[in-house]
Amino acid sequence: MKLTFLGTGTSTGVPTLGCRCRVCTSADPRDQRTRPSLLLEYDGRTVVIDTTPDFRAQALRHQMQRLDAAVFTHAHADHILGLDDVRPFYFRQQTPIPIYAEAHCLENIRRTFQYIFDGVYPYGGIARLDPHLIDGPFDLWGLRLTPVPVLHGNLPILGFRFGQAAYLTDFSTIPETSLPLLDGLEVLILDALRPKPHPAHSSIEQSLAWVEQLKPRRAFFTHMAHQVSHAEISASLPPHVRLAYDGLQLDL
Ligand SMILES: [Zn+2]
Ligand SMILES: [Zn+2]
Ligand SMILES: [Zn+2]
Repeated sequence: MKLTFLGTGTSTGVPTLGCRCRVCTSADPRDQRTRPSLLLEYDGRTVVIDTTPDFRAQALRHQMQRLDAAVFTHAHADHILGLDDVRPFYFRQQTPIPIYAEAHCLENIRRTFQYIFDGVYPYGGIARLDPHLIDGPFDLWGLRLTPVPVLHGNLPILGFRFGQAAYLTDFSTIPETSLPLLDGLEVLILDALRPKPHPAHSSIEQSLAWVEQLKPRRAFFTHMAHQVSHAEISASLPPHVRLAYDGLQLDL
């Protein structure tokens, strides 16, 4: 399986509009972060986790040829607003694109994209989606995805484990009951917003502590804000912990 970080930025993206700080004006391409999303490619299948407002640009940059399913962590704008842009994949593939989310997230997606779901859009050119409720582990073409409940501030959202890898974006706490789901990981991808603590996100220091506790073989930080200079923060991390960047690929 190949993993591609389509985006590794926080909700505003980096550069942040209007900002002239040294990260937002950095010449290092790893300091340019689109909104957070991960692509899974295996056995000819392409599955995306979250469809960000940058989904179209990410799909073009990665030369995506197809999309077999979209899986959602939660319904914040930076994770769902690109859903309309899956349309061309539906037009090409001519089968409704399955989307997977837990109940609260699915309800928010249905409300935000009401015109896709209410069946009365008279203008044509609309995606057809096939919603699936996540209420436990599920299989996508032989790949088992196990939802990993985490807390994003006070909002319960989902991370996912697939094989020896796990993706935990947008969390501030991992409940005790989810810890066994993160045993024996080869790769842990986790939120590390910035050096300073934040009520709804894990900080660099907190994420280092999670890595210390969960002991994955390798860890990659994502959902990073413009307080994170790739070169500077990277230099301060242990060798098995890396900052992800847009376009980074991992073979599993
Ligand atoms: Zn987010
Ligand atoms: Zn900035
Ligand atoms: Zn969020």
